[in-house]
Amino acid sequence: MTRIVAVSSEKGGVGKTTTASNLAAAWGALGRRVLAVDFDPQFALTRAFGLAPSDAPATVYEVLTAQGTELEDAVLPDVAPGVDLIASRRDLRKLELNLVSEVRREEFLARALEPLVGDYDVVVIDSPPNLGLLTVNVLCASTEVLVPVSMVDTGALQGAAELRASVAGLAERRFDVRIRALVKTLAEPRRVMYQAISEPLGALGIPVARTEIPLRADFHNALAEGAPLLVSRPDSLGGLAYRKLGQELLGDSAKLKAVA
Ligand code: ADP
Ligand code: MG
Repeated sequence: MTRIVAVSSEKGGVGKTTTASNLAAAWGALGRRVLAVDFDPQFALTRAFGLAPSDAPATVYEVLTAQGTELEDAVLPDVAPGVDLIASRRDLRKLELNLVSEVRREEFLARALEPLVGDYDVVVIDSPPNLGLLTVNVLCASTEVLVPVSMVDTGALQGAAELRASVAGLAERRFDVRIRALVKTLAEPRRVMYQAISEPLGALGIPVARTEIPLRADFHNALAEGAPLLVSRPDSLGGLAYRKLGQELLGDSAKLKAVA
């Protein structure tokens, strides 16, 4: 069955887009067929692959709003080895308002993805930095959620806690989604901040991925180069960390370190 992985947190700047793009590239490099879906109106995932919304024949916005535009019309093939992309654009913001009055408004993205999901081993969805209807659509479309937690930002903890509450609310309403793992990003274990965040993170009662993503300036440079770090510099510490995280997450979930 296709795994549909949301990368989500209420907090911005915690490494959601960096994680979505590099994990997509990692799984593509490991021989999986990957569909990366940009569901943030700021289209950072589209940019992470060096592309603009205008490079796409259609974006997720047209798929959801324009009669006759199917998901397959929006696929940008091979943005990285093994990875296809559905781009986003600013207009996606409007959708949030339009959806409010729709029936089954949480399930628009899930229904739009349905025809193509079976063509891929993994679908990775990037989300906006809030818990609005766009993020709820991402969660409802997913089978599992990864929550990046920036280890240099105490606000990231709050973002993870709020997301946990949202996912619990959806689970109560019988949506089949769970948080697979928290992922420590921008990690530098010697920093006081790292230690200050690590402890309460464990207390959230959600598994924490064993692989941590180190704080490295070259993640920022990769954006300028228009490719995920794992693609532009596969042997960099950051690229290697995402490859390892990709391997870890493909393995048995029992291997994840459960934190009481
Ligand atoms: P989000 O999608 O949660 O807003 P991003 O992935 O866009 O977060 O990351 C925010 C900023 O932090 C970007 O400039 C990105 O290059 C940088 N960044 C992300 N991960 C790391 C990391 N491990 N080390 C250093 N900088 C990082
Ligand atoms: Mg982002």
